[in-house]
Order: sequence, then structure tokens, then C-alpha cells
Amino acid sequence: MLIDELKDVVGPAGWTSDPHELEPHLTEWRGAVRGETPIMLSPNTVEQVAEIIRRCAAAGTAVVPQGGNTGLCAGAIPDASGEQVLLSLSRLNRIRDIRPDDFSVVVEAGCILEDMQRAAERSGRLFALSLGAEGSAQIGGNISTDAGGINVIRYGTARAQVLGLEVVLPDGRVWNGLRSLRKDTAGYDLKQLFIGAEGTLGIITAACLKLYPLPGETTVALAALPSAQNAIELLARLRRSLADRIQAFELIADRPFRWVEKNIAGARLPFDRRHEWYVLLEAAVADDGDLVERELMRALRDEIVADVAVAKNSSEAEALWRMRHSISEAQKPEGACMKHDISVPVGSMAEFLRRGGEMLETRWPDARLVAFGHVGDGNLHYNVTQPAGADPAAFKLEGVAISRAIYQLVREMGGSISAEHGIGVLKRPWLQEFADPLELELMQTLKAALDPGNILNPGKVI
Ligand code: FAD
Repeated sequence: MLIDELKDVVGPAGWTSDPHELEPHLTEWRGAVRGETPIMLSPNTVEQVAEIIRRCAAAGTAVVPQGGNTGLCAGAIPDASGEQVLLSLSRLNRIRDIRPDDFSVVVEAGCILEDMQRAAERSGRLFALSLGAEGSAQIGGNISTDAGGINVIRYGTARAQVLGLEVVLPDGRVWNGLRSLRKDTAGYDLKQLFIGAEGTLGIITAACLKLYPLPGETTVALAALPSAQNAIELLARLRRSLADRIQAFELIADRPFRWVEKNIAGARLPFDRRHEWYVLLEAAVADDGDLVERELMRALRDEIVADVAVAKNSSEAEALWRMRHSISEAQKPEGACMKHDISVPVGSMAEFLRRGGEMLETRWPDARLVAFGHVGDGNLHYNVTQPAGADPAAFKLEGVAISRAIYQLVREMGGSISAEHGIGVLKRPWLQEFADPLELELMQTLKAALDPGNILNPGKVI
């Protein structure tokens, strides 16, 4: 029997069918999707992963890879059939080789992002990826979703961190592409296929990743602004004066911060009156500790910003970041919410916000828009929460029309319906509706070529 064979491959410590142990692995982070599985396998060597895939491929049994299960579109959850094998990468979590002089590290896929950051710091280097779920998200999951986070503006997404990959292919062969080369033009750049593929083309077992110099001292500041357009202007000015020292540039509308103050104990903005928009920014200042403050004061004088609060110490900086990271939590008590992680060209962000706001105001005047995000990357969480006191179930039915209207506007403005969380199961119908048919066809061609038996994460993405 396949299941018995798989148990033998991983040994007693490498599998579970216990419903209590399985439960957190069968439910998507927000609870939107629940799946079933006969077994969760947790191999701790690449050879075990390869053997699992070989045997599942021979039996025609589907395998669903799972990292930290923090993805927000149910890509890591098996379907409801109870037939798909769940493959947890969490025991494949070693840092194989850290090379400060090469500014690179070879790490296994199950390493938790925060552990990777700490290991880099211990060796005097920075691993630049940073996001709210870094305490449980894994490197393999980060790469498979091409995760972004708060530092993309300076260092790029997960894709930009990857120098090489080790991948178990859908037939069980192991591709060792763990090169640390910065330049390599020998044929197709195969690693790109697996980055952002959400486990549909191969199982990433290890990665060679970029490290950077530690940024040194940083300044964190909150600026209040009268309009989103002013935020774009502020970004352009700061880019001129600070160049690539800007580590984070987050735009937040007033409503999400109002909800943080209302629903999160102890949270307070450092201003004595409300403003339409805020920018939370962090910049490396090295030998010029007052640089950010000087630039923001100039922006204040020129009426680009309306007020400024510069964190005087690390606890003030942490308090500002806590406000930003609490937004998702603060939305929950306000009821049902249609979430969209979209992107548009950075220069079109203010126009998108204006047109989107007008469209919602006209068609769904009582719905409550919650807009915030990584505006330096053109990536916005454009969430629409139910009217206060409305029936959540009725709002969710209406929510499909809201999402469609938003995605139509995104398409019109040359944007993407998915800029952060991936497609998984939840956005699959939207990808079918909004992707260029030729692009979809090419994706299907790649999937069929690499995984003709449809063994890896079937039903996800395409
Ligand atoms: P999982 O959720 O376990 O899996 C995600 C997908 O990758 C699934 O399709 C799975 O099958 C596949 N997969 C996992 N491991 C492998 C592997 N080794 N090989 C092949 N396929 C694999 N995302 C952002 O981009 N930016 C953010 O700022 C951000 N903030 C977040 C904040 C919170 C509070 C939460 C809960 C999530 C946030 N996310 C963010 C989403 C999520 O954290 C990322 O998508 C993350 O990269 C997922 O990593 P994971 O290990 O949890 O992957």
C-alpha cells in the first residue's frame, strides 16, 4: 500500500495521521478553506522528498507541499477528497552553508524566515526579506509565493534574493541548481520557473540566497499627508536625496489607523489631529542620523506633508511599526471583508485610489474601504469591509461584484490582480477571468511539460 510505503520512507518521526496534529495544517490561515488528507509526511532529507515524489508519481497520487501555512490563498491546503498527500517541509530546515565573503547562504526550504534573518545577522550580514508572518513562514514558501514584505523597495521580492535552487521534480529527480553565481547566461534561467509557482512545478528543497551588508542605523518616521498624490511626490523627492537608503515606504489611509486605535489596546497615533493619509517610512542613515528628519522638514515647509513624527528611539520606532502590523488584526472585529492584494504602476497609484474610491462611493456607498500597503512597490491591500452592522453573509454575496469591479479597474490601469499572496485556490477563478489567454496557455504548457501526471499541487494556480 502506498501509505505504508511512504511511512517507511520517512520513518516513525516523519509522518502523522493524528486528526489533532493534522488540524492546523488542513485549514487556511484565515479559516476560509479546509481540506483533508490521509497523511502528512515530514521528510528531513532531500532523498526522502525525492523518494516520496517518485512513489506518489508511480501511484498517481497528488502531493501538496506546505511550508509555514501562512499563505493567504489556500495554496498549501489539500482538497476535500481526502486523497492528497500533504508534504510538510518543516523538518528540512538546516542552514547548510553561510558564506559572508560571498554574500550568500545555502539554506533548506523548511527554515523559518526569522531564523534565516537571525543566522545572517550573526554572521554580520543581512537577509533582506521581512514580512508580518516571518515567525512561521518558511524560505520554501517565501520563494514559492515570491513573497514581498516591507523591504521590497530597497531589496526586491523573494525572487531577487534567489541565486540558485535545489528542486525535486514531479518525477522524483533532483535538480541541483544551487549556484551562487551573480551572472550566468548559460541557457534558460531555470530557477525562475519554480519561483512563485506555488508548488505546482517542483518541490523546492533548498536555495542559495543573497546576503547584504547590515544597513546600520535606521530612522523610522511617520508623515501625515493631505492626499495619496502627495505620498507619491514625497517618495520621488526622498528617492532623489536618499537614493536606495529607503528600506520601507508604506502608505496607510486614515480608516485603518482609526480601527487600530479602536481595536488594539494601547495603540495611538503621535498626532493631535486626523489626516487623510499617512506614510510610514524607514531609511538607513549610516553616518548622517538627521538626514531623514531634515528631508521631512523640507517636505513640511513645501506643504507636501502636513505633519511629521520621527521616532526618537527604538521603542518609538517599534510602536510605529506595531500600528502598521496591527491593521489586519484591527479589521477583524469590523466584520466581513473582501481583500485584494493588487498592484498598479507606482506613478498611477494616486489615480487608482481616486477612481477606486469614486467607484465604491457610487456603487457601494456604505461599504468601508481599508487601503494600505507597500506603495513604494505599487502594491496595495485594497480591502472593502461590510457596512457597519450589516449581515456578513449578504455582504459576501455582494462581495463578488465588488471584487470584479476592483479587478476591472486594476486591469484597465495596467495592474495585477495578485501582487503579494499568489493565486492558490481562492484567486484561481479570478486568474482565469483576468489573465491574458495567451499567458494562461503558456502557463498550462509549462505545467503539462514538467508535470504531465498532474501530481504536484493540482487544482492550484491554473
Ligand atoms: P505556505 O503558506 O505553506 O505555502 C504557500 C505556497 O507555497 C503553497 O502553494 C505551497 O504549496 C507552496 N510551497 C510551500 N513550500 C514549498 C516548497 N518548499 N516547495 C514548493 N512549494 C512550496 N506575503 C507577502 O508577500 N508579503 C507580506 O507582507 C505578507 N505579510 C503577511 C502577514 C501575515 C500576518 C500573514 C499571515 C501572511 C502574510 N503574507 C505576506 C503571506 C505569506 O506569509 C507569504 O505568502 C509566505 O511567503 C508564505 O510562506 P509559507 O511558508 O507560510 O508558505
